[in-house]
Amino acid sequence: MSDYDSENVFAKILRDEIPSLRVYEDDEFIAFRDIDPSAPTHVVLIPRGEAPTGLDQLTESDTTMLGKLTIAATKIARELGLETDGYRLVLNNGPDAGQTVFHLHMHILGGGRLGPVA
Ligand code: 5GP
Repeated sequence: MSDYDSENVFAKILRDEIPSLRVYEDDEFIAFRDIDPSAPTHVVLIPRGEAPTGLDQLTESDTTMLGKLTIAATKIARELGLETDGYRLVLNNGPDAGQTVFHLHMHILGGGRLGPVA
C-alpha cells in the first residue's frame, strides 16, 4: 500500500506504542474501545499489519479479508452482548464521511438506541 502511513494512530495501537482497551484479537484482526465513543458501546475493529487506507484502496484480493472482518465484527458484537438489541457496523471513507484514520477499520456501535444513519 504505497500511501500507507506507518505512524498512523492504529498502526501505533497495533505496535502497543499507544495503549488501547482491547476487546478482541485473532491472527488477522484486533478490536479495541474507541477513545471518543459515539454510542454506549463503540469498538473499532482493524486488520493487523499494513492495511488498506480505506475502502477506496480495496481490490478483489481483499474479498476474503473483508468477509472475515465482517464475521469477526459479528462475533465481537455477540461477545459484547449486542446481538439481542442490535448494533451497527460502519466504515467511513474520505472527508465527507469524517474518516480521520487511514488504516481500514470497522466501527461496531450499539448498547443503546442509535440515531438514524442519514
Ligand atoms: P474514523 O473517523 O476514521 O472512521 O474513525 C477513527 C476512530 O478512531 C474515531 O472514532 C476516533 O475516536 C478513534 N480514535 C482516534 N484516536 C484514537 C486512539 O488513540 N485510541 C482509540 N482507542 N481510538 C482512537
